[in-house]
Amino acid sequence: MSDRIQAIAEQLGIDREALNARFQEERQKRLRSDHSDQYRRAAEGFDHLLADPFVDGEVEREPLTDEIDVLIIGAGFGGMLCAARLREQGVASLRIVEEAGDFGGTWYWNRYPGAQCDIESYCYLPLLDELGYTPKERYSYANEIFDVAQKIAENFDLRASACFRTRVEQVQWDEDCARWIVTTNRGDEMRARFVITAPGSLHRAKLPGAPGLEDFKGKVFHTSRWDYDYTGGSTSDTNLDRLGDKKVAVIGTGCTAIQCVPYVAASAEHLYVFQRTPASVAERQNAPTNPEWAASLQPGWQEQRRRNFDAAMTFQPDENGILVQDGWTSQVRGVFEFLSELDPPPSAEEFAALTDLVDLKYTDDVRKRVDETVTDPETREKLKAWYRQFCKRPTFNDEYLPTFNRPNVTLIDTSESQGIECVTETGIVAGGVEYEVDCIIYATGFDLTGSMKQRTGYDIIGENGLTLSDAWANGYRTFQAVSVRNFPNYFMAAFGLQTPFSVNITAVLDDLARHIAYVTATALKRNIKKIQPCEQAEAEWTEMVMSTPSMMGAADFQAQCTPSYYNNEGDPASSVQVGVFPGNCNDFNAFLGKWRDAGDLAGMEIGQ
Ligand code: NDP
Repeated sequence: MSDRIQAIAEQLGIDREALNARFQEERQKRLRSDHSDQYRRAAEGFDHLLADPFVDGEVEREPLTDEIDVLIIGAGFGGMLCAARLREQGVASLRIVEEAGDFGGTWYWNRYPGAQCDIESYCYLPLLDELGYTPKERYSYANEIFDVAQKIAENFDLRASACFRTRVEQVQWDEDCARWIVTTNRGDEMRARFVITAPGSLHRAKLPGAPGLEDFKGKVFHTSRWDYDYTGGSTSDTNLDRLGDKKVAVIGTGCTAIQCVPYVAASAEHLYVFQRTPASVAERQNAPTNPEWAASLQPGWQEQRRRNFDAAMTFQPDENGILVQDGWTSQVRGVFEFLSELDPPPSAEEFAALTDLVDLKYTDDVRKRVDETVTDPETREKLKAWYRQFCKRPTFNDEYLPTFNRPNVTLIDTSESQGIECVTETGIVAGGVEYEVDCIIYATGFDLTGSMKQRTGYDIIGENGLTLSDAWANGYRTFQAVSVRNFPNYFMAAFGLQTPFSVNITAVLDDLARHIAYVTATALKRNIKKIQPCEQAEAEWTEMVMSTPSMMGAADFQAQCTPSYYNNEGDPASSVQVGVFPGNCNDFNAFLGKWRDAGDLAGMEIGQ
């Protein structure tokens, strides 16, 4: 470290070596040899945990065997954005097929008490400009997000095109008629000229692989299927009044648990929070939207704010500076403060060291927040996160830490045994002690590492019977992150699959949706029968994204991180390489925009 960076370390009071040594010690404690294999997918023997608690009874309908121009699978924001952008392009004949009972995707399923978006809602919620809607608060709660999904559906006339409570079983290309045949669990055999899949990422629940999960005789559910009948309260009422005589366990302390734990604690007779790795919990800084600011917004404001946020997050603030002043941009803002003092500007090594220092200071501040909030010294120490801010998804919450001052809440640290030891008929064992409970709430997250088929439950069968799983058996390949050779008239709006990385997922989904809508509508207008990437274009794109360092940061950074799904549970070297666009969302959008402006569908093979 150069002298002037060392001086900054001293000014910040950061002992880099000591902190990194502690981070490694804590990482080693939690590093399991079975890495991502430690989990069970909820579908493996726990199908009942995936039942939809938000619908009543069965709805009968006749199987559909008709033909539409565009069939979209998935009614989350990815699918809705594709549908909305297609509507803007004048596509009338479209259908959205969805397993859930309504629009919303992640926000349909995740309706636990306290659920809230952790990216500023002005950037996160899609199509705000188009809807003429300004969120009520800086960080919207799930109800408002769900309502925005409904507003999008009304505004773009999507409801009549939706086919809910329908699980796709197979998607097969029929070469003779150049149509996709989509079959479902309701006996449908729909035909479509184009198919778009929008699989989402946070809906396949996963559970600990600990023994005995099936033995528990009490109530069990996963946070993504909150059982308000059991807890009391509702999606609009966080008073969980039926828990008053219940001992409850919440397993997990990730972003989801942070948000729901305060509400469970306020209602339950007793709450045990089973923690393996403490979350990094920074200030939420929520506030009602300033009506004067909302009234001053000009058309195009959301696009501008999103682009500004993305630029800031990648250390490239635009001419408006950094509009989103919150925890996400704190590292960048911290670095820029020091940069203005460094003359001459720092070398690449100095810049990296400075970024490290600002980040280490952030982690220090997060631990200080625990010290200032939690009264019991033992609990306080257990709640301190010893890892870099972006090793896990950071959290922001003002109610979680004070919850541990309540007499009816106990924090159970399971780090020494690398998770809960087992589940019994009556409770959970950790540290050799059984904690008897009436209810177990799994806040244990989602399967993000399984194959696309494992996550969606169906395969796509393209030309000559080739499945997408087989096409990707030796590595992912796409063209522009949206199409795949041998899969004509097929597009996907899937965040993280050869797209740029961004913490604001809906912004990436909108870029994908606009692009897919353009290609699809162009093909329909030009009456193109069959369109797919040519071999060379796909190979070139794939080589470009595969030679870019991994999506969740450089591999050497991830190798130092505490285990999480970001680094394949501590084993980044053996995680499947998906590929990431070499640039931020703004670069991606500009890149695709230039391609669209040329209007020649370069790199696509067109069959009439
Ligand atoms: P996570 O995967 O982030 O967290 C799962 C939790 O379960 C972790 O604390 C994990 O511990 C714990 N766990 C897993 N196995 C065991 C075990 N055997 N014993 C004890 N504990 C265990 O899931 P979440 O649902 O919290 O979040 C998933 C993602 O959803 C987030 O990363 C975020 O992207 C998104 N999200 C976004 C929100 C938003 O506001 N927009 C809100 C909520 C979620 P360990 O850390 O040690 O692995």
